[in-house]
Amino acid sequence: NLVQRVEQEILSAKQWKGTTYSGGPTLNLIGGEWTTGEGVEKWIDVNDPSTQRLLTRVPETPHAEMVRIVDRAQEAFEDWRDASVLRRQGVMLKLQALIREHHDDIAQSIVLEQGKTFADAKGDVLRGLQVVDAACAMPSLIMGEKLEVSKDMDTETRRVPLGVTAAICPFNFPAMIPLWSINAIATGNSLILKPSERDPGAAMIIAELAEKAGLPKGVLSVLHGTVPAVQFLCNEPRIKAISFVGSDKAGKYIYDTAGANGKRVQANLGAKNHCILMPDANRNFALNSVVGAAFGAAGQRCMALSVLVTVGETDEWLPELVERAKGLKVGNGFDTDVDVGPLITPAAKQRVESLIASCEAQGGKIALDGRGVKVDGFPEGNFVGPTILLADTSMDCYKEEIFGPVLTIVKAKDLDDAIKVINSNKYGNGTAIFTQSGATARKFEKEVEAGQIGINVPIPVPLPMFAWSGNKGSVLGQTSLYGKLGIEFWTQHKTTTSLWRSEDALETKATTSMPTHR
Ligand code: NAD
Repeated sequence: NLVQRVEQEILSAKQWKGTTYSGGPTLNLIGGEWTTGEGVEKWIDVNDPSTQRLLTRVPETPHAEMVRIVDRAQEAFEDWRDASVLRRQGVMLKLQALIREHHDDIAQSIVLEQGKTFADAKGDVLRGLQVVDAACAMPSLIMGEKLEVSKDMDTETRRVPLGVTAAICPFNFPAMIPLWSINAIATGNSLILKPSERDPGAAMIIAELAEKAGLPKGVLSVLHGTVPAVQFLCNEPRIKAISFVGSDKAGKYIYDTAGANGKRVQANLGAKNHCILMPDANRNFALNSVVGAAFGAAGQRCMALSVLVTVGETDEWLPELVERAKGLKVGNGFDTDVDVGPLITPAAKQRVESLIASCEAQGGKIALDGRGVKVDGFPEGNFVGPTILLADTSMDCYKEEIFGPVLTIVKAKDLDDAIKVINSNKYGNGTAIFTQSGATARKFEKEVEAGQIGINVPIPVPLPMFAWSGNKGSVLGQTSLYGKLGIEFWTQHKTTTSLWRSEDALETKATTSMPTHR
């Protein structure tokens, strides 16, 4: 059996310190110590989504251990903030090389725990690595500004780190999203990473590589757990900033609670990304792009294309779309022919299937039904095949973020109508259009409200020199995960105004009026 063979290879090839795939515990990383922790009362099982085999267990970290993590992170910060920018850059450069060297190991861990295909998992790692690549330029990125105000006065602003910070991550990009927060470290903060309890392995390998890269103990900690761990991070006074990526419900709680406690918070939430298909689009390219972006990663991407808005006669392209979707192979991610892996949990599968059912119940049509898909050799997997729904915007399958391999199609009569549909949606993470007309593309780009726009590009995730710029209901907080705005998030400004005047010019009288520096 393919999976058993590959799993065996993973188990025998490497023993990573923090994670084990033999049912044993995934460890916390506290001040450089890899530990199961004292007094863990609850463990969360991590199962292979293709087989349900128990891979590892994640601790619900007890309160005293969480306090210890913050103690160590605070101590580490005191030194790390004083490390030279070049020393920090050196660690980033080594980490970059190590991630590249262990690219496949991290990707294998993702396939095993999360289920996506190996090729897709490699993309997950690479998009994270690109953030590290960009962070290697931190000495330039973190530079402040200086102005000669007058012949003897300067004003200078510098960026300094905040202190202990935290990143709370979702399950769907186990490498990329933890690495989105690498700028926290590169700018001189210490970081407590809380990976998803459903697939912590990639984050553990990355943490070990950071240690190997020379990151001082305690600068990066890994804290495992679920809601209690998140509540702790939101309420612990020494934590200065929290970056969150995940669902609306958790994000709203974190934004409200941590925000009320005076922390800096950015929360990146759910999405419903629409794609407009114009009649002048290159049909072959557009249909393949839509199929890839709707069903890739089994639709479990916050930038998945989950709604297709057909304009005019493009609704007649449906049979061809269905054929292409049918052509995708569903199965285990280690099978190199597979296009669509399993959903993360049986509960996720059940939820997706019930949203598919709701489409028909509410008057829509199922043009392609992926429920009940059978995968040879994997009867227990959380598989749902590519599904295409014909719906309108009042239905639950349109309104809810499905987060599965389900494409909902709504019709629009023209471009204005299609843009109206998109702008009426509460989310604004991403959107795309397929057209050959520059004028159409320009109008779309100008009028559409969503923050990340693809023109003939189905998944317009910005490279890390630009800002992650989801908007509307897809984000709470105003800065970005990476790019220049990301640096802003992880740093605060200190502005110094200095006056250096010759001795004789300093003989002045006291004045009580506001200095204006004129
Ligand atoms: P999730 O909200 O269930 O979990 C994310 C993190 O929050 C986990 O670490 C989890 O332990 C914690 N958490 C879960 N429920 C919580 C609660 N009630 N209170 C406090 N903490 C809680 O999200 P998920 O299912 O892991 O990820 C999928 C979601 O993430 C989707 O909605 C997807 O759109 C979103 N996402 C958004 C982006 C983005 O950039 N906007 C990127 C990736 C994923």
